[in-house]
Amino acid sequence: MQAIVLLGAPGAGKGTTADGLHAEFGFLHVSTGNMLREAVGKGTDVGHEAEPFMQAGKLVPDKIIGRLVEELLNSDESGARYMFDGYPRTMPQADRLDACLEARSGRLNYVFYLDAPRELLVSRLAGRRICGSCGANYHLVNVKPKMDGVCDRCDGKLYQRPDDSEETVNTRLNVYEDMACDLVEHYGQRSLLRRVDSSRRPEDAVADIASVLRPPGADRE
Ligand code: AMP
Repeated sequence: MQAIVLLGAPGAGKGTTADGLHAEFGFLHVSTGNMLREAVGKGTDVGHEAEPFMQAGKLVPDKIIGRLVEELLNSDESGARYMFDGYPRTMPQADRLDACLEARSGRLNYVFYLDAPRELLVSRLAGRRICGSCGANYHLVNVKPKMDGVCDRCDGKLYQRPDDSEETVNTRLNVYEDMACDLVEHYGQRSLLRRVDSSRRPEDAVADIASVLRPPGADRE
């Protein structure tokens, strides 16, 4: 079992980068944020427990996150290659992920740290719009839909995530900055960390990561 982690602040482009890597390498995209939003949407017990933390821009307790991820790994028979997005976010989550992978004879191969200045993250999040039907991402300035409020792909209605409001964005970025240093240091010490400049276009970040995952010449044999 192989696994990579996409580490980065809200707005760093983890979701878009994950889409690109999924298309190129077939990694299974595991986004704890998406899993939680789905649980909230379905009104499950996990959703009820998580919702107040998410609305406030705070971290959902480690116990809930650990359970979610383990259930997913237990139910997945493919022995897939995993790409974790927005997980782990705390040191206890990082330790639990290691234990989880080890129990399945797997390991973490790389942690890609998507790095961008805070002002850019704020403007990306404030302008982000998402299709309620297919989940496609847009931006009011950078990635405009052809018709205002309507998805180009499926004609679905675009909405703003409630936690992308200006006030909650600032809390989320502060929460992220509080914990990021520990994780960056932890994975740096284990020589797993690769820093990626994600202030550029998403395809540039994907290309950088692809060159690490598939070094030049790797296709020749
Ligand atoms: P995201 O879509 O990754 O920005 O996550 C949205 C929200 O879900 C976060 O602001 C947290 O409230 C919660 N969340 C997602 N992943 C985690 C995690 N690994 N640990 C704790 N909370 C999380």
